[in-house]
Amino acid sequence: AAKGGGRGQYRFYSSDLKDGANHRRQVEEELRDAIANNELSMQYQPLICAKTHTVKACEALMRWEHPERGHISPGVFIPVAEDIGIIKEVGEWALNEVCRQAKEWPVELRVAVNVSAIQFAQDDFPQVVKNALQSSGLSPDRLELEITESVFLGDTGRTQSIFAELKKLGVRLALDDFGTGYSSLSYLRTAPFDKIKIDQSFVRGATEEGNNNAAILSAITGLADALKMDTVAEGVEAEDELALVTERGATLIQGYIFSGAITHEEFLGRLEQGQLKYERRGPAKTRAD
Ligand code: C2E
Ligand code: MG
Ligand code: MG
Ligand code: MG
Repeated sequence: AAKGGGRGQYRFYSSDLKDGANHRRQVEEELRDAIANNELSMQYQPLICAKTHTVKACEALMRWEHPERGHISPGVFIPVAEDIGIIKEVGEWALNEVCRQAKEWPVELRVAVNVSAIQFAQDDFPQVVKNALQSSGLSPDRLELEITESVFLGDTGRTQSIFAELKKLGVRLALDDFGTGYSSLSYLRTAPFDKIKIDQSFVRGATEEGNNNAAILSAITGLADALKMDTVAEGVEAEDELALVTERGATLIQGYIFSGAITHEEFLGRLEQGQLKYERRGPAKTRAD
C-alpha cells in the first residue's frame, strides 16, 4: 500500500495503521536510532538493457527492518525523515554504503542512489558526494544520482550551481519519476541529465485500451533520444508492458518482470557467478518484491 505516494504524503499511509498519529511519532523516534542500530540496508534492483536483457546498471533502494514492526517501506519513512530533519544523515549513510558496496563488485556496473530534494539542497551536498567517492575509491562515473522534479522548486541559482558542482565531480544524473508532478520541459533544457526514468504510471496498463500511454512513451523516448539521454521504463511487470516499452524505444527496463530489489549479498552473488543475463519471471502470482 506504500507505492505511489509523493513527498509529504505519508499521512495517507496511516489509514493502514491502528493509530496513525502515535505510529508516526514512534517512527520518528525510532528512525533516529535506526542507523546506529544497523536496521537500515541497501538493496539493489537491476536495470536491464531492452535489447540484450543483460544488466547494465542498478538502483539502490533503502530498506528498514524494524526489530518489532518488521519491514517499513521507504515510501513511508523517507518522507518522515525529510519532515523531521534527518534525511541528511540517512542520505549520507546511503551514499557511503552504496559506494563502499559497489566498489566490491567484480563487474563495473553503474549504481544509482536516490537523493531527496531536501538533501540535494543542503549546502554541503556536493561535498558529501565527494567524500563518499573518496573514502570508497569508487570511480565517479559509476555513481548516478536520481533526483525528482521537486528539486526545481527550490532556489534556481542554487540548484544550477549544485548541478555544476556535481558534474565537475564526474557523477551522472538521472531524472526520476518523469512525467509526474511538476513536469516541465525547461528542466531538460537547463539541467545536465544523463537519463530519464519514465514513471511507472505510464507503463502500468500501458497496453489497455483508451489511454494515451503508448503515445506518451514514444514522445518521451523520442525527446530523450534527441537530447542524447537514456530512458528507463520503470515498473515493468507484465509481458505486454515489456513488449510495448521496448517497441516505444525505452533503452533500459526496470521492473518485477526481471527482478525486484534484492539484498546486496544476492546481487553480489549473481555478479560473481557472471549471471548478467536476465530471464523473464513467471506470471503475476509468482512475483515477489
Ligand atoms: P523510486 O526511486 O521511484 O524507486 C522505484 C520504486 O519502484 C521502488 O520502490 C521499487 O521497489 C519499485 N518497483 C520496481 N519495479 C517495480 C515493479 O515492477 N512494480 C512495482 N509495483 N514497483 C516496482 P521502493 O523500494 O518501495 O521505494 C519507493 C521510493 O522510496 C523510491 O521510488 C524513492 O523515491 C524512495 N527511496 C527508496 N530508497 C531511497 C533512498 O535511499 N533515498 C531516498 N531519498 N529515497 C529513497
Ligand atoms: Mg529512483
Ligand atoms: Mg522512480
Ligand atoms: Mg518514486
